[in-house]
Amino acid sequence: MRRSTLAVFTGTGCRACEHAILDIHHQVASLTPAAEIAFWPFVMGHQWEDLERLSHLDVCVIAGAVCTEDDRHAVETLRGKSHIMIACGACAAFGGLPGLANLRPAVEEHAASAPKEDEPPSLPRLAGRVSAVSGVVEVDYVVPGCPPTQGLLWAALQTVLGRGEATSRVSFACGRLPESLALALTAGVLPRKGTTFGGEKAVCASCSRVKEEKKFSAPYRPFEPAQDTGRCLLEQGLVCQGLATREGCGGLCTAVGAPCRGCFGKATDIYDAGAKMVSAISSTFDTTDGKEARAIADKFVDLAGTFYRYTLAEQCVLLSRDRKE
Ligand code: SF4
Repeated sequence: MRRSTLAVFTGTGCRACEHAILDIHHQVASLTPAAEIAFWPFVMGHQWEDLERLSHLDVCVIAGAVCTEDDRHAVETLRGKSHIMIACGACAAFGGLPGLANLRPAVEEHAASAPKEDEPPSLPRLAGRVSAVSGVVEVDYVVPGCPPTQGLLWAALQTVLGRGEATSRVSFACGRLPESLALALTAGVLPRKGTTFGGEKAVCASCSRVKEEKKFSAPYRPFEPAQDTGRCLLEQGLVCQGLATREGCGGLCTAVGAPCRGCFGKATDIYDAGAKMVSAISSTFDTTDGKEARAIADKFVDLAGTFYRYTLAEQCVLLSRDRKE
């Protein structure tokens, strides 16, 4: 059986997604019967020229956001050669933390002041806007997370490499996958294009914390309050974004008392995760007095960075597209 050719590349990102692939531990070695690693600069030391020599890749796993012209060129080149492209991690999938740079006009100003063609470049030339990979090329599958969980990443790789049956060896924390995806994973059938390797509902749907009456009187930073160990974190004043975030992580953060930060992106039936969170929290303010409500709202630190931490770039593209239609 012919082995598939695999490429792994990060645009602008912290490379935790590439570490997540390595964190599959000894099982990463069992990729080799199914895949020949044809281009993975970070791990195999490949040079860009090695990619240029390749005419075709079966699978490309791309991480990181598109922040520079070099990122854009790399993404377009890899897309042109790849049969299947997987956006891996929150930056590639939604723009991630680098996408918050779009709040600053400085990105465009800096791009305008970047070295001209005939000047020796000192820094990579910035793209005008930071974007998710799907803002530049078509993406076939998404594995969300910051970084993705090993189970979902492994399942996605095995599935696109045609080894879905092997995923049964992995006990991954995603018991609530949509039926179509679970079927694809176990039967080794490719899921439909555009599929996200994650659940459909929100993290709250599978969170085991006890939900009582929500009364929000002040936001706390994750390190501030003494926590009631079994109770919903949002009800304790922690800005937990499980209400709007796609499940599939297995509640790794909430299980240890850390609020969900939204790295799986928005759940399937949610249009704007940030707006959903603002609406949900403000509707539970423990007051009916306008001034007191304003005082609670003023205590939030960095609204955009909190509610659009991972999704700002993708959400802006979505909003502007829908406004034009
Ligand atoms: Fe669990 Fe967070 Fe949802 Fe509360 S808001 S139920 S802690 S995921």
